[in-house]
Amino acid sequence: QSKSTFATVNPATGRTVAEFPQIEGKEVDVRVEAAHQAFGEWRARTIEDRAAAVGRAGELMLERKEALAQIVTEEMGKLISEARGEVDLAASILTYYAKYGPEFAAPEPLDVEEGEAYLVSEPLGVLLGVMPWNFPLYQVVRFAGPNLVLGNTVMVKHAGICAQSALALEKIFQDAGLPPGAYTNLFVGHDEVSRIIDSRVVRGASLTGSEGAGAKVAERAGANMKPSLLELGGSDVFVVLDGENLEHTVKAAAAGRLANTGQSCVAAKRFIVLDAHYDAFVDGLKSAFARLEPGDPADESTTLGPLSSEGAAETLVEQIEETVRQGAELVIGGKRVDRPGAYVEPTILTGVEPGMRAYAEELFGPAAVVHRAADEDEAVALANDSEYGLGGTVFCADTDRARRVAERIETGMVWINHPTSTQADLPFGGIKRSGYGRELGHLGMREFVNKKLVRVL
Ligand code: NAP
Repeated sequence: QSKSTFATVNPATGRTVAEFPQIEGKEVDVRVEAAHQAFGEWRARTIEDRAAAVGRAGELMLERKEALAQIVTEEMGKLISEARGEVDLAASILTYYAKYGPEFAAPEPLDVEEGEAYLVSEPLGVLLGVMPWNFPLYQVVRFAGPNLVLGNTVMVKHAGICAQSALALEKIFQDAGLPPGAYTNLFVGHDEVSRIIDSRVVRGASLTGSEGAGAKVAERAGANMKPSLLELGGSDVFVVLDGENLEHTVKAAAAGRLANTGQSCVAAKRFIVLDAHYDAFVDGLKSAFARLEPGDPADESTTLGPLSSEGAAETLVEQIEETVRQGAELVIGGKRVDRPGAYVEPTILTGVEPGMRAYAEELFGPAAVVHRAADEDEAVALANDSEYGLGGTVFCADTDRARRVAERIETGMVWINHPTSTQADLPFGGIKRSGYGRELGHLGMREFVNKKLVRVL
């Protein structure tokens, strides 16, 4: 696919609600040039001034919470309560950088034997962010927030199915008092993304999304000797080491797998349960999955929304069916829900072995794989037998034991006794095919920055 389409297709009904024109060529160049012009003005402001504007954008998000949540639910099918939660999370990120950004970017004195030396944080210039649809607000602000405070200007190519979110975000930054060009939404296709990265004035590119898209953007950035950051897919484990509070563990496991209808990069996707607790865990998870009620995601009582698109639902069912053909056991689910829209039944697969599709691939929807492990060593070996390395979860009442296992898991993040999640003050990112670089926390301001050495003798 080289041409994107920017359109709202409600995944709960399959109906096209709105379409948005794309730009290319000269029209894109004009915007890139405007972002470059804006950089001069934006970086000349004090960092406190920039932080205040970003903080104002956070306030505006909260003021517009209901409208934003409705857009997200309509565009990608997120349950309305979760969409409201996403607005809060996104606003908290902007508020966080407004508050701590100036401190993170403050000069850092270096311990030197002679004279004086310190690092100053300088912005690089215009950045391009290529963003996915699964958290249409959160993904964008975790890239834009810190970089705007730093003094970079940002251009965002959002996912084709999130055009309304993309426009609402641009309006928020405009209304917050950013100069024209400091934040630019671009309705452009994939080919234009490459051309933008080639542009002389663009200084870096960040992509959250699939491996294929990540590889394209990183390759182009590399060819231009520009820094890139990749937040890609994952197949995170959820390791259960004991049977204490199993009911609570199962509840967390179901939440970790099913939040955002399973479409989260850090969703728990592979459950690894020690032998003694395996049967009880699978039974518990099956009951939790069976309780979900499909319905309109805009309706407060719905507990199972659609996937983001018809294509996403088709892909997931294909992955499940092929894994079952390859010999895995279907504990529950496995089919499309019998109603219009992109719904897939909550699904549990067991007996998934190396070579089967669901062993290695990311399942981006409400489908869990549960593995049985004889002991901790086998659990760790299974956990690390993945091309991905994003997050992971370990559950155990003995937190020292959980920590020891967590240290052996090869990922960018591990959460103990809570499903892997995200918050403004914690760095986020992965290793291996899950990408490189970190967003959020103080590390979120260490990617697209010139840590310039100043030496005084
Ligand atoms: P995707 O197809 O890669 O889309 C992400 C963005 O990349 C969209 O804006 C898309 O544009 C664009 N894109 C796709 N191919 C491109 C290309 N060849 N050149 C330039 N741009 C391109 O990803 P997705 O399948 O929608 O998103 C789900 C994936 O993202 C999952 O694997 C998930 O785990 C991962 N993810 C990772 C994180 C993280 O933080 N690590 C967070 C969320 C999601 P169009 O929409 O116009 O095609």
